[in-house]
Amino acid sequence: MEDEPASFQLLADAPPPPRQPVELGMDLDLRARIRQALVCPYCRDEVERGAESVGCVRDGCGAIYHSECWEECSADHGSCAVFGCSSQRAAPLSSAGYLLRLLRLLAAALLLPPRLVAAVEERDGGEGLGQQIARLSSTAFPSLDPSDDGFLKLAAYLTTSCMLAFAGIPLLEGILPPGFPSAMVVLAIPPLVLLGTLILPGLVAGALISAFCLARALVLGLKGERAALERGGGGTVKALK
Ligand SMILES: [Zn+2]
Ligand SMILES: [Zn+2]
Repeated sequence: MEDEPASFQLLADAPPPPRQPVELGMDLDLRARIRQALVCPYCRDEVERGAESVGCVRDGCGAIYHSECWEECSADHGSCAVFGCSSQRAAPLSSAGYLLRLLRLLAAALLLPPRLVAAVEERDGGEGLGQQIARLSSTAFPSLDPSDDGFLKLAAYLTTSCMLAFAGIPLLEGILPPGFPSAMVVLAIPPLVLLGTLILPGLVAGALISAFCLARALVLGLKGERAALERGGGGTVKALK
């Protein structure tokens, strides 16, 4: 580093950069957001592909540095420069690792709108998505509570009803003689509808629970990328020691 970065000072009181809602089709905005998330917190330049770089290893930090910058930064700060992060270790980023980081940033920006993240994070608090799903499944199955045990029972219930439905098809074919009068088929509809009514809430609840679990895995798995996107431009750095 030839000169001291101008913005290298305690900026803890500065307001965080405004969050930009990303919608599909806003290509320029998305590109700008990704590039901001790739800014080195030390020199405030984008870490470009092919440059020797390292990534802070703390789960949920998501900062990447030029290798040289990290050397100077850990000498100056004794740790990662991102405000609130005290990690003393960073791991080298290979070109494949850099590409993976790009893809993860893209996934975090495109798949995780703030509303979804808030819904997942509120799971244990107010009326989040989790509560809604729990409420839905306990409405569909009043005897099941949304505990782990309840989900086990739900899985057993789903498996049994699906097996019953599949077993019913050849059974019906075996029972019906060839040239079975079509009027009689009408009589078979009520039991089928009954069976469908039994299965449908289970399928809906199962699909919702799967979607929620997937969203939760994404929100937790892309924690560092979300943090880097939210900070933008390298974020607020700590004061020099
Ligand atoms: Zn740098
Ligand atoms: Zn860090």
